[in-house]
Amino acid sequence: MKVLWAPWRMKYIVSDQKGVECIFCPGEDRTDDQAKLILHVGSLSMVMMNRFPYVNGHLLVAPVRHVADLESLTSDEMLDLLMTVRGSIGVLSKVMCPEGFNVGLNLGRVAGAGVEAHVHFHIVPRWNGDTNYMTVLGEVRVIPEHIKETYRKLLPHFRKFADGALEEKNEAS
Ligand SMILES: [Zn+2]
Repeated sequence: MKVLWAPWRMKYIVSDQKGVECIFCPGEDRTDDQAKLILHVGSLSMVMMNRFPYVNGHLLVAPVRHVADLESLTSDEMLDLLMTVRGSIGVLSKVMCPEGFNVGLNLGRVAGAGVEAHVHFHIVPRWNGDTNYMTVLGEVRVIPEHIKETYRKLLPHFRKFADGALEEKNEAS
């Protein structure tokens, strides 16, 4: 068994999550985005790194609007969300060269949703052999410094989203 050095998990485990503001509601103030590991806030969708990741590069994509399920999304939000998922996969492919991805939704606490009130996609990059260090505990072992370093590498690519990179890709395909 490898050592699981994940001190930030404790903060997650001991916080009861009640009365804590929603991590997926980005608000108007962009000055704390780096501390919150937010990579992109568009008009309808946002992207952030998972502070409690399965692997380094684990991203979360959510609608800007605070809604709990897919049924509550408008068609425009749904389209923007999926385009943002696609764009995020594109950035991860370019920057981290994963060999595959797991993309999905955890709907409801029983399905593993950490934040039930605000629907969000998980994008987990995968590499051959990564399960060697992704233990069956399903919790992780990516040190915070690695997350910050990856954030710095990903951010310039997500900045292009704001300049219409998502739309360009859409038109090209
Ligand atoms: Zn929210």
